[in-house]
Amino acid sequence: MSDFVKPWVVISKCLGFARCRWNGLTIQDEFVERLKPHVEFMPVCAEVEIGLGVPRDPIRVILSNEELRLVQPATKTDVTNKMRKFCNTFLTSLDEVDGFILKSRSPSCGIKEAKIYPTMEKSAAIRKGSGFFGTAVLERFPNLPVEDEGRLRNFIIREHFLKRIFTIARFRSTKKTQKMKNLVQFQAENKFLFMAYNQKEFRVMGRIVANHEKRSVSEVYDNYEVHLYAALAKTPRYTSYINVFMHAMGHFSDKLNKQEKSFFLELMEKYRSGKAPLRSDTDVLMSWGVRFGEKYLLDQTFFNPYPEELLDISDSGKGRDY
Ligand code: SF4
Repeated sequence: MSDFVKPWVVISKCLGFARCRWNGLTIQDEFVERLKPHVEFMPVCAEVEIGLGVPRDPIRVILSNEELRLVQPATKTDVTNKMRKFCNTFLTSLDEVDGFILKSRSPSCGIKEAKIYPTMEKSAAIRKGSGFFGTAVLERFPNLPVEDEGRLRNFIIREHFLKRIFTIARFRSTKKTQKMKNLVQFQAENKFLFMAYNQKEFRVMGRIVANHEKRSVSEVYDNYEVHLYAALAKTPRYTSYINVFMHAMGHFSDKLNKQEKSFFLELMEKYRSGKAPLRSDTDVLMSWGVRFGEKYLLDQTFFNPYPEELLDISDSGKGRDY
């Protein structure tokens, strides 16, 4: 499996697509640049869309009478309703979308770290939360990957995001065919990936595909989709990867000699204790797949979940980085 369906990703326009920030600048993000050949980006700037212009006086989120409002202190304008209307119209208009990359900390696009102030007047922030557009995205698309460019500097978050958008895009394209055999193939080729992500959902998805209840194809796809999102919701634990390694090794148990088996078991132990990256184990399994012509294993998205050009082991330094 090496043909990747390009995911459709809505992105904050100021992340390298236009000089639309309040100060007339743009932000070049290295990861976004690398994604460009592999992703269909849909850039949007909520603040420009509601007519604030470039450059513009900054806006901020304030907590007023226990309600969040979006205001422009310099002009004493409240743009909350305009922004809400835009969010609703824009998000409703989206037909195909597999994920979002939004600008961190923005009062519009932020998904976590936007500052919330007590008043329009000069004051210190009282807490942090999501911006107006970010909130609307999170509410409207609770099942899709939504990240900001800051969080995507973390290796684990970036890996999780990439795996999700490419898997969801591939499912979307499979679903369009409305053919059962394509869904069966999708489930088979993602077997190891789903096992790593969520064993319980993986089994449920297997039962849905088996379709003993003889449901219609569209019903099967819709039901499967719900569980696909649930399966991909959380980053796998490293112990789940070890279970997949053991399972994959079972494919070669009668073909490997004692030394090869113990070498791999030692490698897994190193991975378990954080002394070797995931890649060292997957590369050995891949090499066995090539050596013994195990097409089923080589076709597993687990080994190749997104275009290799996007692999980057750099990390912001928060948490286990593999
Ligand atoms: S953060 Fe969002 S609203 Fe602000 S400039 Fe960037 S795209 Fe526009």
